[in-house]
Amino acid sequence: MLLDPFARAISYLRVSVTDRCDFRCTYCMAEQMTFLPKAELLTLEELDRLCGAFIGLGVKKLRLTGGEPLVRRDVMTLFHALGRHLKSGALEELTLTTNGSQLARHAEGLKAAGVRRVNVSLDTLDPAKFTAITRWGKLDKVLEGIRAARDAGLRIKINTVALKGVNEGEIEDLVRWCGEAGYDLTFIETMPLGEIDQDRTDQYLPLSLVRARLGQVFTLEDTDYRTGGPARYVTVRETGQRLGFITPLTHNFCESCNRVRLTCTGTLYMCLGQEDAADLRAPLRADPTDGALIEAIHEAIGRKPKGHDFVIDRRHQRPAVGRHMSVTGG
Ligand code: SAM
Ligand code: SF4
Repeated sequence: MLLDPFARAISYLRVSVTDRCDFRCTYCMAEQMTFLPKAELLTLEELDRLCGAFIGLGVKKLRLTGGEPLVRRDVMTLFHALGRHLKSGALEELTLTTNGSQLARHAEGLKAAGVRRVNVSLDTLDPAKFTAITRWGKLDKVLEGIRAARDAGLRIKINTVALKGVNEGEIEDLVRWCGEAGYDLTFIETMPLGEIDQDRTDQYLPLSLVRARLGQVFTLEDTDYRTGGPARYVTVRETGQRLGFITPLTHNFCESCNRVRLTCTGTLYMCLGQEDAADLRAPLRADPTDGALIEAIHEAIGRKPKGHDFVIDRRHQRPAVGRHMSVTGG
């Protein structure tokens, strides 16, 4: 088992399989992004080996993310390869976070690989607003993807970033829409990761406010339900649905952190909100027996920090962390 210095067991690995994306969400990326040269990327076989090493060390949940994971060429071969760890029982869950744009054509394949649930990011149900937020996205494509995933038998969780003055008037509609369709819904606060084209204080909407407003319309019942992730959940009595809140800024969730994040170049970040990282590509390539890799993983987990120190306010003009969310994955 992997234990960090604060006795937290590391059982969850998120892997950003590409930093590229077919959207340019305003809170995530600048419109003109420089992506990694393709030659820098680990191959899918190398990513599979790295994941296998973590699973061998006790990781039980694996989430592929990005950038947009479904735009990486042949990514389904990686899903299918990783599915063998589900069959053996070593892995409990294989899942992904996606913008949904390519979900219609991959939903059946994901189910066949052993994926049982998928997180789809969706910030609005208004087509024009959707394109304004994502710059390059089309709402109907994403809705088609979500339907295909549901028809394939995948459970769906919608992730919505709460954005001041953008989707704040739609929060109630999103709760109803998800409630009617049977999707779980989690709201996320914007985090200060990477340079974007605008001031983040203009986008930041505290979820304490969102929750208070929802509480005037719905009956929100606190629950003990936890997925091992950072969200806190309530049940909406009127719809019966589970509603999550991820509040990195108004609420510190670090004490129960069980995860680490791997990038598509083999860099391991022990915390989403800190710069410290470990290179796993060199040991991976240097030693085909995985001995050096396993040693490097242990060494990295041994310096997992206690928590992040995100702040968004006008005195902190620079992002807390220089890299974008699309590098380390959401
Ligand atoms: N492209 C996929 C997607 O959008 O679902 C996966 C990667 S994306 C980086 C993962 C999640 O991070 C998405 O739900 C997205 O809305 C969220 N996200 C991106 N940048 C963020 C930021 N600066 N603060 C908070 N959430 C962010
Ligand atoms: Fe792409 Fe996801 Fe970032 Fe939007 S949030 S730009 S879909 S990586």
